[in-house]
Amino acid sequence: MSYQTSANCFSADGPLASYIEGFAVRAGQQDMALAIEQAIDNNSQLICEAGTGTGKTFAYLVPALLSSSQVVISTGTKTLQDQLFHKDIPLVKSALNSQADVALLKGRANYLCWYRFELHRKSYEFSQVSSQAQLQSLADWATTTPTGDLSEVLQAEALTSVWPAITSTNENCVGQECADYQRCFVVKARRAAQEADLIIINHHLFFADAVIRREGFGELLPEAGAHIFDEAHQLPELASLFFSQSVGHLQLMELARDCQNEAVEAAKEFVDLRRLTEQLMQQSNDLLFALGEEQRRPWQQLSQQHGVTKGVESVRLTLQELSQLLTEASKHHTNFSPYLQRANSLLNRLQATTGQAEEDTVQWVEIRRRSYGLNATPLSVGRQFQELLETKGGAWVFTSATLSVNGGFDHFTDGMGLRTAVCERWESPFDYSAQALLYLPKDLPPPNSHSYTKSMMTAILPLLKASHGRAFLLFTSYKALKESAKLLRAETDYTLFIQGEMPKSQILADFRTCDNAVLLGTNSFWEGVDVKGEALSCVIIDKLPFASPSDPVLQARLEAMSQQGQNGFMQIQIPQAVIMLKQGVGRLIRDEGDHGVMVICDPRLTHKSYGKIFLRSLPPMPVTHDINAAQLFFSDDPR
Ligand code: SF4
Repeated sequence: MSYQTSANCFSADGPLASYIEGFAVRAGQQDMALAIEQAIDNNSQLICEAGTGTGKTFAYLVPALLSSSQVVISTGTKTLQDQLFHKDIPLVKSALNSQADVALLKGRANYLCWYRFELHRKSYEFSQVSSQAQLQSLADWATTTPTGDLSEVLQAEALTSVWPAITSTNENCVGQECADYQRCFVVKARRAAQEADLIIINHHLFFADAVIRREGFGELLPEAGAHIFDEAHQLPELASLFFSQSVGHLQLMELARDCQNEAVEAAKEFVDLRRLTEQLMQQSNDLLFALGEEQRRPWQQLSQQHGVTKGVESVRLTLQELSQLLTEASKHHTNFSPYLQRANSLLNRLQATTGQAEEDTVQWVEIRRRSYGLNATPLSVGRQFQELLETKGGAWVFTSATLSVNGGFDHFTDGMGLRTAVCERWESPFDYSAQALLYLPKDLPPPNSHSYTKSMMTAILPLLKASHGRAFLLFTSYKALKESAKLLRAETDYTLFIQGEMPKSQILADFRTCDNAVLLGTNSFWEGVDVKGEALSCVIIDKLPFASPSDPVLQARLEAMSQQGQNGFMQIQIPQAVIMLKQGVGRLIRDEGDHGVMVICDPRLTHKSYGKIFLRSLPPMPVTHDINAAQLFFSDDPR
């Protein structure tokens, strides 16, 4: 039996209602599926915001499975990718009786690389961090797994320190010259994707493919007829990351180590290779030391420091010498060709990130405790993204629960160059006026004052008592999180789950089953976290989530806008913060049976004129400034 349209599938007597227990007809879901179906049929661009509870996953899966075109669906994370592939798609396929061939494709770093595993398994470093038993069980698994996806291996987490040595990167994969090419898991996964009707990828892989195409190194993904992006609000930042040029400490060290390992196997006579690679490692370490404390800084500032420029120049000269040596070596030993390409690519990137800056690009450095990254980031990604869409052709659908700001999509369409896209919104079907209350505490000091966190915690403690814990506290900084955790430990008996003290998945699993718990988290808990039911009845946000104004990329973008007579605060900072706030607020009501109080402590929401933009962008909840009214919300609770 076949079903002609998405609308049929979502009707009360359609296949989804017949097959899925508890399936409810939702007008928004039906309309959204129809709009996506039309976009695919017309090869057009569609941006759709679907409020929490619309059922957007099924709304795009059904037209994707019904389409006669090859469709790529891209999700925000690998976890969501796995959930789609292993849970949602089998269910919808069964309901639709679909025979579509579906492939799951991840980035190459998720698959065991036979070549590198064999190259490193006998190395000294490897033996220091993994036991022979672990390695043997990994080898046994590798000979039986059909996918080579390391997420299948329970002990993979224990092997994180050797993960780079058993997986591949674009730079270190030796490609068709590889002796293991025929049994390569990456090659197999890509072949399966080429032939599939529906391919499930993640945004990182989508952009990695775009970069490889741009640089003329081939392609990872097929030329599909349609692309659907879920969690599309993440795309501007990811596009910025992938359209950047970067070179870092880890890549330099890895090139040096890989050359050394290869030289042991293939060319013992190249003593100079050992000398140069040792020198490169030493110089990269020296540069890390010269760069100083952990931070992000514009290259323009750092390039004034003699130690830094001297360090970069030393690395550049050694890379040049290494490149010459590898040119000679690869004439006699083809195994060295990929290393030559890598050395040359790193040299080019060193030039892009520390040489004469290209127009409309900002050069900046990220300094971490054990590594650094030199970057050149475009000030705007819209043009490149639009060119990419035009080159690939077909239909493009972008969906998320958080794309609009104050009802408009300009921030997203301008940022991504999607000026001809049709924009649609479907409000959440939840009854926010009855299910939720927005509490905005009064009389808090300015959020940049020293006493802010303490005052904020004092203001919300009575509410936490009324809600009996069962709360998320979402912070914009780790410092505020730690200070609040200390205060809560002193003032309450609630079980506290604190980001960083356990893995995120463990924190969430325990929070769901624990009575009266309070979870304290920063960035990663603002989105993609789903806790239904009474365990989560209150979400408290400390400050409006503005990006750090000291970020060199943001600074350069604001400066460029100001030079063009535009207001970067209104056009960049506010929309970004609104989208993130909407994500945070979206944690509270996850189901039509959920009830709860949303608290946004930041006084700028009421005192600043731009506060209205935030408030108008949130679901339509009743608002109160009265703590008693907020406490009363929980008065029916018998606990
Ligand atoms: S082809 Fe590349 S990824 Fe595959 S086994 Fe060889 S080196 Fe590893």
